Amino acid sequence: MRSSTGQHVVVAGGGLAGIRTVAALRDAGFDGRVTMLDRDPECDHDRPPLSKGFLTGTHSEADIRLPRAAELDADERVTAEAAGLSARERVLHLRGGVSLGFDGLVIATGLRARTLPGSVRVPTIRSIHDARRLRAALTGRAGRLVVIGAGFIGTELAASARELGWQVTLIARESNPLTRALGQTMGRFVADLHWRHGVDVRAGQGAHEVTDTPDGYRVRLAGGEVIEADLVVAAIGAIPNTEWLDDTEILTGDGVHTDAGLRVLDRARVPVSGIVAAGDVARSPHPLFPVESVRVEHWSNANEHAKTAAATLLADLSNTAPVVRHAAVPSFWSDQYDQKILAVGLPHLADYATVVEGDPSEGRFLIAYTRNQQTVGAAGVGTTRSLARYRRAIATATQRENPPQAITDGGGPSAVSTTQEET
Ligand SMILES: Cc1cc2nc3c(=O)[nH]c(=O)nc-3n(C[C@H](O)[C@H](O)[C@H](O)COP(=O)(O)OP(=O)(O)OC[C@H]3O[C@@H](n4cnc5c(N)ncnc54)[C@H](O)[C@@H]3O)c2cc1C
Repeated sequence: MRSSTGQHVVVAGGGLAGIRTVAALRDAGFDGRVTMLDRDPECDHDRPPLSKGFLTGTHSEADIRLPRAAELDADERVTAEAAGLSARERVLHLRGGVSLGFDGLVIATGLRARTLPGSVRVPTIRSIHDARRLRAALTGRAGRLVVIGAGFIGTELAASARELGWQVTLIARESNPLTRALGQTMGRFVADLHWRHGVDVRAGQGAHEVTDTPDGYRVRLAGGEVIEADLVVAAIGAIPNTEWLDDTEILTGDGVHTDAGLRVLDRARVPVSGIVAAGDVARSPHPLFPVESVRVEHWSNANEHAKTAAATLLADLSNTAPVVRHAAVPSFWSDQYDQKILAVGLPHLADYATVVEGDPSEGRFLIAYTRNQQTVGAAGVGTTRSLARYRRAIATATQRENPPQAITDGGGPSAVSTTQEET
């Protein structure tokens, strides 16, 4: 790389993907100026513990500082909100009227929690602020909690609240928790896990309405049944923070669309040199999977994206343009009670899933997921080694040498993110 001195990289979003992209740029020798901005001054907390150890008290705030956040070699860390972009002119517009010129831009603005419609504001969990409030509400007393939504965050919240002694009702719109992400077999295992820990799992109907009463809340299910609660939390998915790009040249639609190297696309679907997207907000093609584009809402993806985004940006900034392609196999985990569910690939793409090792009833098993007989993922409990084998198999598969490259705005399985929550 030629010397980057004098070049200026701006990072919009200081969560995991933003921080790790700055770290990757520095690790690769970028010695120019970096400005990382986030609208949340406390953006540098890791999110996975927020629904788990931070709620139950095993993790303190200091424990969940993002690795490398404190010693990050960013010249400037700014509390500011990106509000617009002139991509060709290389200017980022901030709320309040200030503009920031750049040579390279990283878009890492992540997601925000989806909220329930209605007159009662039902808490959600995405940030350290949400988690602090929820921890305060759950600690020191034990009452009746209703968790609306049984995806990863909803099921983890239910488990954490049970550990704190709360009486928990978990509402899953689908036939079992986690089925959208991991299918029926894993869904039944997770439902059973929660039943055994005393959670009242109400599957197959969503929450219709939440009202407040002098004593708490009433949650009316789609079938008409009413559940009384002292506390209600909604975990019904998340929305990409892309509205600030609405009036710009950048292509958005359930995320910021990118090429395979995470370079953003303009509305004519042409990659824009020097601007990349990374983490939960990025929607990109993936050479290992039979989809046009995918957006992955998991920790390791944000981490891996950071390396690709930095490599692409450095190539653009130095005009060396080596071919950079993001091909890391996604992987994710969910801790619930004493169980760790691990997954690789994109199981939600599957049209068929089968147990290939162990038995869910024994608490040790591996499920393989295929689509058109091609392995797209694996998930299990207590089968880490076999899972690693599947990961390697997906990474080295030759069956997808010519993945579709066109980008669409939605529809079909490719529009589904990997952690869609349920109501
Ligand atoms: C409660 C919870 C538990 C989780 N548990 C797991 C788990 O067990 N396993 C797993 O694999 N993954 C888990 N995840 C997902 C994982 O944490 C995310 O994939 C990861 O945090 C994504 O990082 P990111 O940097 O892309 O986005 P974010 O962490 O959302 O960061 C985006 C940042 O951009 C900022 N921002 C947004 N808009 C603007 C703007 N216009 N201007 C300036 N700044 C802006 C936001 O304030 C935010 O700080 C969990 C997530 C949550 C919320």
